[in-house]
Amino acid sequence: MYQLILFGPPGVGKGTQAELIAAKLNLFHLSTGEVLRKAVSEGTELGKKAKVIMDSGALVPDDIMIGIVKDALKNNDKTNGFILDGFPRTIAQAEALNILFEELDYQNVRVLNLTADDAELIARLLKRGRSDDTEETIKHRLEVYYKSTAPVKGVYDNLNCVTDVNGLGSKEEINKKILEILE
Ligand code: ADP
Repeated sequence: MYQLILFGPPGVGKGTQAELIAAKLNLFHLSTGEVLRKAVSEGTELGKKAKVIMDSGALVPDDIMIGIVKDALKNNDKTNGFILDGFPRTIAQAEALNILFEELDYQNVRVLNLTADDAELIARLLKRGRSDDTEETIKHRLEVYYKSTAPVKGVYDNLNCVTDVNGLGSKEEINKKILEILE
């Protein structure tokens, strides 16, 4: 059973790669960003709260995000496993996830750490042009990434389960590299 976390800065291609891997290996793809965007488009209470935060480039509070992921993983019925994309993004989220993994007896967690430099990330995000891809929001999201999210990798380094993957190249090339790592 695949127990995967796709890690890396905004714009590095987590969403694209998670989708390809999930399709190929028949996994449950959980993108916390997508869950939030769906809530925004449906105009739910969560969506109303999340929109303001997302448009500023900040993080939605940990308790909300942890609740979403717990629910989703507990109800996942894809027996081949799952791939998380966009979670965990803080040390508190990673710690909550470790506890959940223990509860569910998931002991084979692997983290794929996608990398790219800031100039590349900024160029890609500007090209993508989502509503939270303005120059100012991108700058803030990168700051938040380096301050709050990058340290999360250390949690998994300590568990010896991280593999770095260079995020520069075509999506097919990167996908091939990831599938080779997972073989
Ligand atoms: P990207 O791939 O560009 O990083 P995402 O779709 O993963 O974008 O996330 C978009 C926004 O949703 C984030 O900037 C943040 O505001 C919110 N978000 C997504 N996942 C989380 C999370 N795990 N914790 C807090 N906020 C989150």
